[in-house]
Amino acid sequence: MSDLVPLTGEPLALDLVNTRPHTPDGPGDLVATVEGLRVWLGLQADRLAGALPEGGEASLTDDDLAAAVTAVREVREHAAVAIDQARRGLRPPGDALSGLNRAQRAAPAVRALAWDGAAVTAVPRRDGPPGARLAAVLAEAVAELLTDPAVTTVRECAADDCVMLFLPAHPRRRWCSARGAATGPASPGTTGVTAPPTRLYRERNWREVEIAPEVVMTNVRIESANLDRFHSAGP
Ligand SMILES: [Zn+2]
Repeated sequence: MSDLVPLTGEPLALDLVNTRPHTPDGPGDLVATVEGLRVWLGLQADRLAGALPEGGEASLTDDDLAAAVTAVREVREHAAVAIDQARRGLRPPGDALSGLNRAQRAAPAVRALAWDGAAVTAVPRRDGPPGARLAAVLAEAVAELLTDPAVTTVRECAADDCVMLFLPAHPRRRWCSARGAATGPASPGTTGVTAPPTRLYRERNWREVEIAPEVVMTNVRIESANLDRFHSAGP
């Protein structure tokens, strides 16, 4: 499982839920261990800067991370349930919403004011142990998605046995990767679909894929073996 690279580049709340892929070995959990969580935090470092200590995920101890694994997975369970309902226009269970509220309250945010020599700055800061801060930031990201009208456009990947969620920028997008979206000839071993692009992990490049698949088709192969693991039972 540890050789699976998490899918990233969707809203943070979806990236979190997407750490539970279906794999050839069954349901996976990419943040179930200290090592797995450290990898995921590294991939999300830009978006989690306010929750991580100076020095990023590398400066978290194994004890910090062990506590964070529990807190992050709890937020993820609430997020998965709430998003699944909200994306269908249905009311999320009260337990899920109160769980997300609880996670945010465990490490309340303030905008910490300071003088930088020329102007007043306000930097968002949360108090609490690292695991609680991380869970709070993730719960806040889930709250942002749940309250965004676009939540009703969140889709599950159309590949068989793939449970990845995504927020389509293009209404015709059907896949968590670009697989199946391109119109070029089939590559060997596939049936009418092209291999996914190696750079699907970045949101900016998703736009390129959706608008003009051929733009990124020249460097498509490198990570396709890894991505295909998310689609083991796919077309
Ligand atoms: Zn998929």
